[in-house]
Amino acid sequence: MFESLSSKLGGVFERLTGRGTLTEADVTEALREVRVALLEADVALPVVKEFIGRVKARAVGTDVIKSVSPGQMVVKIVHDELIDTLGTKGVELNLSAAAPVVILMVGLQGSGKTTTSAKLAVRLKKDRKKVLLASLDVYRPAAQRQLEILAGQAEVGSLPIVMGEMPVAITRRALDVGRKEGYDVVILDTAGRLHIDQELMAEVAEVRDVAQPTETLLVSDAMTGQDAVTLAREFNEKVGVTGIVLTRIDGDARGGAALSMRAVTGRPIKFLGAGEKLDALEVFHPDRIAGRILG
Ligand code: GDP
Repeated sequence: MFESLSSKLGGVFERLTGRGTLTEADVTEALREVRVALLEADVALPVVKEFIGRVKARAVGTDVIKSVSPGQMVVKIVHDELIDTLGTKGVELNLSAAAPVVILMVGLQGSGKTTTSAKLAVRLKKDRKKVLLASLDVYRPAAQRQLEILAGQAEVGSLPIVMGEMPVAITRRALDVGRKEGYDVVILDTAGRLHIDQELMAEVAEVRDVAQPTETLLVSDAMTGQDAVTLAREFNEKVGVTGIVLTRIDGDARGGAALSMRAVTGRPIKFLGAGEKLDALEVFHPDRIAGRILG
């Protein structure tokens, strides 16, 4: 899995064979390659710097096990630190509240929020939950209809569309219908924008105050590069993120955004979106992303 980085580091460490301990100079040289690998994988620069600092602290002075080369040793330390930073696998959704429990979906436009909302509905339905989907995206005329169609495919409930109704009012109605019709979970799909703007943040915060979600999931495209830090920080500060979903992991993206967003928010990555179909939602495994990031 880590051949490419291993082979690069192999060169760096060839001359070190036979030494027992990793010195600061050895590690610094090796970490230059690691830095390039992380930046190529689109991990945001401030996160790379911090990560490298932690690896260095962990590596300097480490005894090199006889059976491996110093290069392999550094790769192992990088890999372990990556796994630790990315967090544990399979952190479940928090649904512990009185029904209907609310899941709030947030993120930029096109990140995959609507699709992920429907994917989560499918997943929860399998767990015998009665799910209601409601779109708060009143800005794109087709958005509410899109969620309604997906709800039909997922065979879960969708809140009837009332033209002209604003997001907070839709939220109140969704909660009301949720209570009256015995839904276990209400998933609120908020409007995204192309870029973060304060008006959007204020609106989502208002919805959050009304809905009191147990989960606020930040949905982000795996292609997100250096912007991932600002994106995650803004959403976390303004609306309070409880988990991250990384979509389009089925594409070519190396997925450095996962590391950036996790490092900035400290929140778990809960799911990976791996395709357009409604069953293409995977529980997060740090190994898989670590492998992609190291290339
Ligand atoms: P939203 O604007 O955030 O609600 O984004 P959408 O849910 O409408 O998704 C935008 C596009 O990305 C749609 O064409 C989706 O089918 C597609 N999409 C969403 N998630 C994934 C994924 O995990 N993999 C792939 N390949 N496509 C996805």
